[in-house]
Amino acid sequence: MQRTTIAQILAAGAATLLVAASLGAARAQDKGTLNPQPLPALANPNDPKLPAKQLFGRKGQPAPLLARSIGFYSKGCLAGAKALPINGQTWQVMRLSRNRNWGHPNLVRFLERLADKGPKVGWHGLLVGDMSQARGGPMLTGHASHQVGLDADIWLTPMPARELTREEREQMSATNVVAADKKDVDPSVWTPAHLGIIKAAAREPEVERIFVNAAIKKALCREATGDRGWLHKVRPFWGHDYHFHIRLRCPGDEPDCRPQEPPPVGDGCGHDLDWWFTDAVLNPKPSAAPARPRPLTMADLPAACRQVLVAP
Ligand SMILES: [Zn+2]
Repeated sequence: MQRTTIAQILAAGAATLLVAASLGAARAQDKGTLNPQPLPALANPNDPKLPAKQLFGRKGQPAPLLARSIGFYSKGCLAGAKALPINGQTWQVMRLSRNRNWGHPNLVRFLERLADKGPKVGWHGLLVGDMSQARGGPMLTGHASHQVGLDADIWLTPMPARELTREEREQMSATNVVAADKKDVDPSVWTPAHLGIIKAAAREPEVERIFVNAAIKKALCREATGDRGWLHKVRPFWGHDYHFHIRLRCPGDEPDCRPQEPPPVGDGCGHDLDWWFTDAVLNPKPSAAPARPRPLTMADLPAACRQVLVAP
């Protein structure tokens, strides 16, 4: 099933593959600061070779335009973003210094609804990691996707029953639920509620895919009872051992949003996972890490992203 697996991964965008493989899993864990410093002004913001992440990474406020997702998850931008409020009854936003709690209004509403469903499956609140930048686009650190406001990372740490301080939100570590040998989940931290919240997300029609570590997928395959149709959307990926990644479909009325090919048929369990547990994948040699792709420039992004960037 190696061919299927690779084809499916490539469908996520080759850049995603390369970056994920070369960056490994640690990025979601990077700590933040209570005193974020503004980035220095660019000497030459119109240089056509300038990586687009240098431009979008400096936009702290959304483009005041009609909300729409433009382009592909790993090559696009976002107009009219909304912020997920940093506190709700059933969620809290983490790493506030990153200013990445922006999304398409569909994503913000979706997360609020999912958070409210959590307690019914034993998950008392979401700790929300990165969504998108204020205008989407490529990021200076951490992700190849999350560019169009339809991706969100949810920590695999249950939300404590109190409001976290600003400092905790920057410094606290998420829980790695994968065992040290990477072949299964760690039974000392993995709970039925982990399955419950991932399943609750996957069953939502507007969810396109969910990315988890292959060890988590293996556990879900083993533990899912009753309806197993949702497993189809839960796809193995590198990293994603401290968080799971929710990807929404393109909004129906937004032709500039480029949909992703649907995942391969089937639940993706059993031998479909074999490749992920080969030694070459579990323990890649440093020399096997592919070269970083050339960073995206404005010319690589849809033309409409220029308007998003320059909007007041
Ligand atoms: Zn993610």
